[in-house]
Amino acid sequence: MRVAVFPGSFDPITLGHYDIVERAIPLFDKIIIAIGQNSQKKYMFSLEQRMEFIKNTFAKHEKIEVDHFEGLTIDYCRSRGVNFILRGLRNPADFEFEKAIAQTNRELTKNNKIETIFLLTSASKSFISSSIVREIINFGGHYELLVPDTVRV
Ligand code: ADP
Repeated sequence: MRVAVFPGSFDPITLGHYDIVERAIPLFDKIIIAIGQNSQKKYMFSLEQRMEFIKNTFAKHEKIEVDHFEGLTIDYCRSRGVNFILRGLRNPADFEFEKAIAQTNRELTKNNKIETIFLLTSASKSFISSSIVREIINFGGHYELLVPDTVRV
């Protein structure tokens, strides 16, 4: 079975995330969307809300599982026996950041190879980020245009 973990904060899930998952579905037998919890970080939405948003978004997709973890993504992958990490790339800043993480992960997983698979975001979704969505929500703007219709506050 070809299984990928799509890790992230998903605070909240956006149409950018949705785009990546939808396009990855034909490539894998299963995708685990896993919310990485960092106790140092402050989130707008609770873990439960973020999980609920994602579950509702992919309710009709049998290949999607939603989970959460604390600690390193590679440790989570190992615990689930998963060999692929899925990430989205929007722009050169994402690339630089993701390159460092992916190469570090490769170094740390020499004996049980975990490959990071990158998908380029669709052009129409590449400007979307969870942080901009949070900003719009904070100031009462039309965040609905940027998130799946399962995300409502
Ligand atoms: P993190 O805190 O790990 O960056 P995010 O939820 O912001 O968590 O992002 C998770 C993944 O989704 C990352 O690979 C990120 O590059 C990707 N992503 C976020 N927004 C978009 C978008 N608009 N288009 C494509 N990929 C995206």
